[in-house]
Amino acid sequence: MTIKEELCRKSAHELAQLLRAGEVTAVEVTQAFLHQIEKLNPVLNAYLYVDAAGALQAAAAVDEDRAAGKELPPFAGVPVAIKDNICQRGIPTTCGSRMLEGWKPPYDATVVQQIHKARLPILGHTNMDEFAMGSSTEHSAFGPTRNPWDPSRIPGGSGGGSAAAVSAYLAPWALGTDTGGSIRQPSSVTGTVGTKPTYGKISRYGVVAMASSLDQVGPVARSVADAAALQEILSAHDPFDSTSLPEKDLDLHTGVEAGLAAKDLQGKRFGVVKELITDGYESGVIAVFQEIRAALEARGAQVVEVSCPSFEHALAAYYLIMPAEVSSNLARFDGVRYGNRALPESGAITAESMMSATRGANFGAEVKRRIILGTHVLSAGFFDAYYGAAQKVRTLVQRDLAKAFEKCDVLISPTSPVVAFPFGAKADPMAMYINDIATIPANLAGAPAISVPAGLSDGLPVGIQIIAQAHEDPKLYAYAAMVEAVADPAGAQCPVEKLEAAE
Ligand code: GLN
Repeated sequence: MTIKEELCRKSAHELAQLLRAGEVTAVEVTQAFLHQIEKLNPVLNAYLYVDAAGALQAAAAVDEDRAAGKELPPFAGVPVAIKDNICQRGIPTTCGSRMLEGWKPPYDATVVQQIHKARLPILGHTNMDEFAMGSSTEHSAFGPTRNPWDPSRIPGGSGGGSAAAVSAYLAPWALGTDTGGSIRQPSSVTGTVGTKPTYGKISRYGVVAMASSLDQVGPVARSVADAAALQEILSAHDPFDSTSLPEKDLDLHTGVEAGLAAKDLQGKRFGVVKELITDGYESGVIAVFQEIRAALEARGAQVVEVSCPSFEHALAAYYLIMPAEVSSNLARFDGVRYGNRALPESGAITAESMMSATRGANFGAEVKRRIILGTHVLSAGFFDAYYGAAQKVRTLVQRDLAKAFEKCDVLISPTSPVVAFPFGAKADPMAMYINDIATIPANLAGAPAISVPAGLSDGLPVGIQIIAQAHEDPKLYAYAAMVEAVADPAGAQCPVEKLEAAE
């Protein structure tokens, strides 16, 4: 392995330490990742845009300040990748859509400002399903991302680009967004750690909205400790986001350290949700889950069964509430204010015909499906039957979770019912939607949840999801670290040499 490849394999914590010790410069670290991107991105299509000049400039500034003896934030110089639905000033931000191809935001999202404050060079923007709709990245207008564990398979979605980039060492960590599982499910199928924090913990200002009551930004990393550190960096109360919570999570790492070190798990209670272990789950996924369960019990943890009956309706409720919000949020893409415009091929050019041509030409099929569905469920005659009923299910999910947490500290389940599937395997939209069965309840409840690599099934990674009560992100990370400590480390180490050799 070359020195550059070795650097790319280091965790964000290790890189930060090397940088602080002066053993490597931020420019060298950034160059190493740019090199890895140059080598593997043509195969993976994980990045839609690489900002080599911007990243190197930010890195050089860190090196200069360090040389001048200036005080720097702890992770200064450790590069990061961001999902392509997060606005960065002057950098193309497409959301994986033709609609925004070529559009450059005039401002930075709050999370981008946080990254600048932490002095992390931004390597580029990662691929995603169009407007974050999907579970495979196959709906990106710019071609799918490939799973580095097996390039004939999907990397999950919608944040497949961030997950593949982190998994294949094209970034030490990355930002994702999670509306129904778009951070956790890609993490699960690429052997990375991905968190959806408590709703409101991280600002959504400058993040292109999919379904505002469900959307959350979160970290993707190669370890629980790195994910916790990135969440700390992103955490800030933001007056520009009316749902932003007042408190900040600045001490997630203490729980992670304790969780990793804990040999004795006496008194820790993990709840297994009966409804999240059903026939629909692959046997290889269940097998890894049972191994983790046994390992936790062997260390003295208590594993109790809990029931959340409403979870059976959570998927249906999500696929009513989410499209309703999508139809309203995406109304802004009308050819007038943002992005691209198309004109009708025939007939008079009116505002309406221009908008219709613009939306017809620039939105993909999945986006159109959801807008139509959303407009339908919000229409006068159907509102109560669909949207109203779904909101009631949302309340029941919250109640079931509250009840489950009377019996346990956190919940565990497989993150995804299946491992990474081959491209084209889920052409039927319903077959695709079912992938979100385990991740959606946390979004509906606003609760924090994380996926931790737990092991392998036929050589492909399996993730375990931990859900905590809303606002208990520190506990989420502490318990995630306990799971990471008993997991098979092979599930988190992508055999990227195979891809590199094929190059
Ligand atoms: N796969 C889910 C969907 O297609 C989740 C999307 C997301 O979290 N952005 O809606």
